[in-house]
Parts: sequence; structure tokens; C-alpha cells
Amino acid sequence: MKIGFIGLGVMGKPMAGHLVDAGHEVIAYNRSRSKVEELAAKGAIPAATLADAGQAEAVITMLPDSSDVEAVLFGEDGLVSVMKPGTLVIDCSTISPETTASIGARLRESQIQFVDAPVSGGEVGAVSGKLAIMMGGEDAAIAKAQEVLGVFAAVMAHVGPVSAGQLVKAANQMLVAGNIALVGEALALLQRTGVDVPSALEVLNGGLAASRVLEVKAPKMLERDFAPGFRLDLHHKDLMIALAAAEQAKIAVPLTGIITQLVNALRSAGEGGEDHGALIKAIERLSGAEAPAAPVEEGNA
Ligand code: NAD
Repeated sequence: MKIGFIGLGVMGKPMAGHLVDAGHEVIAYNRSRSKVEELAAKGAIPAATLADAGQAEAVITMLPDSSDVEAVLFGEDGLVSVMKPGTLVIDCSTISPETTASIGARLRESQIQFVDAPVSGGEVGAVSGKLAIMMGGEDAAIAKAQEVLGVFAAVMAHVGPVSAGQLVKAANQMLVAGNIALVGEALALLQRTGVDVPSALEVLNGGLAASRVLEVKAPKMLERDFAPGFRLDLHHKDLMIALAAAEQAKIAVPLTGIITQLVNALRSAGEGGEDHGALIKAIERLSGAEAPAAPVEEGNA
């Protein structure tokens, strides 16, 4: 299939790379040019302009936020003016469900199909081609989107009409942030009380408390390795999306509210560029101190 791909960042570049490897004709576009050239070296067709990437059967966007997706589709020289009726747009970015619904309605007016398909699994999942993909849209558009997305998916689910994918992604981000915050609280307690932390993690990972977050993030918290990964700034965007969606649905999400405030505190301290595992620092500071880096050679990693 001829596929336009817009946004070749941490996630988009490896996702587009899998499409090239699978034999699709990928027309790649990114704001900064160097990433387009890197993908062209792999076999993609470099798009000189955004409009070039619109000359395709399907167009995937993988951009930071709602305003970026809107700008690419409807801004000056936006794709909507060049895409042919029947083109399928798949937005894999994590953006607002409300904006997503409005994008779907505006594209429908131009007879363009739309699927929101945010992903979970991080850079590791994008590189290994094993993302979890939550899709919102009409059946015919979803069937076509699955042909494309299947190339880099471990699991895909059609969860409802346009914007349902973004609502499931908001729930995903609430669960991940909550889990990270509690792993941080548990580690702060274990470290302060002098328990043998590596042994504690081993037993915790074998019981009901086990989770991917505990398994992956706790060792990094102990090593004080907060290199992203997934930046706190991006997680903040996602928590704000979740809070707005909850507000609109008249659902109280008190824990999500508290965790968002902890993330705010870290961003105010200039730490928004760190990995979301740095949430432990906000928790430790509530009790007066941050834990020193645990020596890795003693087996904490
Ligand atoms: P990123 O910042 O690494 O990449 C975004 C890319 O889009 C950049 O290369 C940037 O140059 C390009 N871009 C921005 N505006 C553009 C425009 N107007 N036209 C063309 N290109 C433009 O971000 P990312 O980490 O790849 O994340 C992308 C989306 O996926 C975000 O919504 C994020 O929340 C979501 N997400 C990220 C992760 C992760 O672990 N990084 C995991 C799941 C979902």
C-alpha cells in the first residue's frame, strides 16, 4: 500500500521503518529534515513537502499533541486540501478525544475516512514492532487500518467509534501513572526502613503486586536512572487529557488528580524532561529527602 507517514520521532521513525520492511511504499515527512533522510536510507520515499505525503491511500500521523495533528490536517497547506476522497487517515498520536471527534467530523465532510489509533508500549514496543493499539472508527475504515497497523502491533482492539481509541489510551495513561506513583511510594518506604530491597522486589514481583511497571521502573528508580523513556512532560499532557475526559463524563478521578499534581511539582522544578519514573522524587521530597543512588554492584539493578 502507498502510505504517507507524518512525524518521525521516537515512536514514528521505528513504526514507519516496519512499514518499509513489510514492503509498503512509505512517503515520509517530518518537520526536521534529518529524520526524513534517515528513513529514506532505509527505503522510504522522502516527501519534500507535507502535500507529497498526502498522495497516498493511507496517511499515518504520529505527532506530539492535538494542535500538531490539527495543523498538519487543516492548517495552511494542510493535508485536507490535497488528499483524495476515500483516503484513510490514521492518527496514532495521543491527543484529546474531543479534538479527535471534531477531526473525524471535519474529514468526513471531505469524504476522508478516519481512525484514531493511539499506541502503548513505548519506544521498546515501537522498535520491536509489538505495540498495543486501541482503535476508534467505523468498521470499514478499521478493517483497512488493521492491514497497515498489524505490521507493528502485538495486540489491536476496535474499542468503539472515532475518539474511543483516545479514551482507552487516557485510561492506559491513568493506570501507568498510578502504578508508577505507588511503586515510588513503596520503594521510598522500603529504602527508608532498611529492608533488603532487591529481595523485596523479587518477592513482590511474584505475587499480586507484580506489574510491568514494578518490573521495569523499580530497578531504574533504584539506580536513579531517569533518562527518558517517556518524558514527564508527555505524561502530563496525557493526564490532562484524562482529567478533561473525566470532567466531561462527570466521573471523579481523585487519584489521577493527585498524581497530576506530583507531576506538576516536578515540572516546576525543571524536571519535565526526565522519565516518568522520576515521579519517585516528588514522593521522596514529601518526606524530606531523596534516596541516594543505590550502588548497582551490590545487585540492585
Ligand atoms: P517525538 O517528539 O519524539 O516525535 C514527534 C515528531 O513529530 C518529531 O520528529 C517532530 O519533528 C515531528 N513534528 C512535530 N510537529 C510536526 C509538524 N507540524 N509536521 C511534521 N512533523 C512534526 O514524540 P514521540 O515520543 O514519537 O510521541 C509521538 C506521540 O506518541 C505523542 O502523542 C506521544 O504522547 C505518543 N506516545 C509516545 C510514547 C513514547 O514512549 N515516546 C509512547 C506511546 C505514545
